[in-house]
Amino acid sequence: GNKWRRVVGLLRELEEACETTVGRLRQVVDAMAVEMHAGLASEGGSKLKMLLTFVDNLPTGCEKGTYYALDLGGTNFRVLRVQLGGENSSIVDQDVQRQRIPQHLMTGTSEDLFDFIALSLLQFIERKENGSEQSKQMRELGFTFSFPMKQTSVSSGILIKWTKGFAIENMVGQEVAGCLQQALARRGLNMRVTALVNDTVGTLALGHYYDADTVAAVIIGTGTNACYLERIDAIIKCQGHLTTSGGMVVNMEWGNFWSSHLPRTSYDIELDAGSPNPNDQGFEKMISGMYLGDFVRRVILKMSQETDVFGPISSKLLEPFTLSTPSVAAMHEDDSPELTEVERILKHDLEIQDVSLKVRKLVLKICDVVTRRAARLAAAGIVGILKKIGRDGSGGIAGGRRSDINIRRTVVAIEGSLYAEYAMFREYLHEALNEILGEDIAQHVVLRLTEDGPGIGAALLAASQSTLR
Ligand code: ADP
Repeated sequence: GNKWRRVVGLLRELEEACETTVGRLRQVVDAMAVEMHAGLASEGGSKLKMLLTFVDNLPTGCEKGTYYALDLGGTNFRVLRVQLGGENSSIVDQDVQRQRIPQHLMTGTSEDLFDFIALSLLQFIERKENGSEQSKQMRELGFTFSFPMKQTSVSSGILIKWTKGFAIENMVGQEVAGCLQQALARRGLNMRVTALVNDTVGTLALGHYYDADTVAAVIIGTGTNACYLERIDAIIKCQGHLTTSGGMVVNMEWGNFWSSHLPRTSYDIELDAGSPNPNDQGFEKMISGMYLGDFVRRVILKMSQETDVFGPISSKLLEPFTLSTPSVAAMHEDDSPELTEVERILKHDLEIQDVSLKVRKLVLKICDVVTRRAARLAAAGIVGILKKIGRDGSGGIAGGRRSDINIRRTVVAIEGSLYAEYAMFREYLHEALNEILGEDIAQHVVLRLTEDGPGIGAALLAASQSTLR
C-alpha cells in the first residue's frame, strides 16, 4: 500500500545518495591525492595532517634479539614481547597481553595513567623473564601511542590532542615518551623508549618485516587511518631534513579527509551534528566501526517515523548507538530463508518485534547499502595513496616515470575488525579496488591482513632503531 511505497521511496533515496559509481570513486581518489600533496606542502595546508613520523627505515626481517612494546590507542591496552631470530623474518616467540584501561584513568592525570602502564609492563616482564640474567640488561621498548602527535624524532613527540574518550588535561603539549620514561624510572625499570609510533606505522612496520614491497598501511576498526612511505623530497614542509633511505613514513590521519565528491546524505549530516566532534573526521564517520551501526539505526528510525512498518517507534531506536556495527554485519550476513538473525537483532538491540519478512529484507538491504559505500570509499582512499606514490598505473600526481615502475608489486598492510571480521565489507573493498584500478593493475596490488600489527610493529621498530647493537 501507500506506506510501503513511502518506505521503498526512502530506500531509493538512500541508495541514490550513497551512490559510489567508479566515476565518483575516481574523483575521490584524485581528491585524496591532491589533499595529500597539500598537507605535505605546508602545516595546516589540508584537512589531512600528513604528520611526520621520522621513521625512515622499516624493519627488514634481519632484526635480532628480544624487544618489548606497549600499545595504547583505545579502550584496550597491550603489552608485548617479541623474540626475533635475526634472519628470514622469523619471530621466534611472541607474547601479547591485553587488558582494558580502567575508565577513571582515561580522564585522570598523566601520572596515574603512566604509572598504571609502567606497572603492567613491570609485572609482564617479571613473569616472562623470571629473574633470569637478562633482567639486568637495558631493554628497548617500542611505544604505540595512537593519538595525534607532533613528532620531533622517531622516539619523541608532543601530544596534539586526545581522542577516543581520553581527556587528561595536563598532557596535551607534553612529550609523550618522556611521560612514559619517567613512570618507568619511578618503577625502577631499566628501559628506553626507542620508537614512538602511531598504530598505522606499527602495522606498516610489521607488513614490511614480512614483505619488502609493503609501502602503506590502513586500519579500519573503531576508527580509520592510514600511513605510507613517502619520498623525503616530496615532503616539502620538512625541507632540509635528510634521511639515509631518502624516504619517511607519513601518518596521514586520513579519518579527517574531506571532499565535496564524497556521497553525503542527510543521515551523515545528522550523525555528524550529534557527535562530540562535529565537522571533524568526516571520512571516518562514513567508514569506521564506531559509526556504521548508528547510520543504519538512523535510516530505520526515519522509516519508522514516516510509516508504521516497524510498528510503534521504539525508544531504543531513538537512542544513539543502540545498534552496533557487529550487529549490522550479522544482519547483513544472515543467509537464512526467514532472516532469523535480522529478526533476533531487531528485537534484541532495537526492541522492534513482529516485522514481516519483507521488512526484514529491507533492513538487510539498508545494511548492504551503508557497508558497500563504506568499503568502496576505503578502497578509493587506498588508491589515492597509490596514485600519490605513482603505483596506480597512471604515472603519479607529480607526473612520474610512466614505465614498469608503475606495475611494480605493491603491498598494503591492513588491520582492523571491519576488514578482518566483516566478509562483505572486505569483498566490497576488493571489488572496488579492481573496478578503480582495472584488473591489469589491481593484480599487482596485494592487501595483506596483519594481526597485532600496531604493537608487534612497534617492537620491530624498537629493534631496527636499536642503539645497543
Ligand atoms: P580498535 O578499537 O583497536 O580499532 P578493532 O579493529 O577490533 O579494534 O575494531 C573494533 C571495531 O570494529 C568496533 O567499532 C566494532 O564495532 C567493529 N567490529 C568488531 N567486530 C566486528 C564484526 N564482526 N563485524 C563488523 N564490525 C565489527
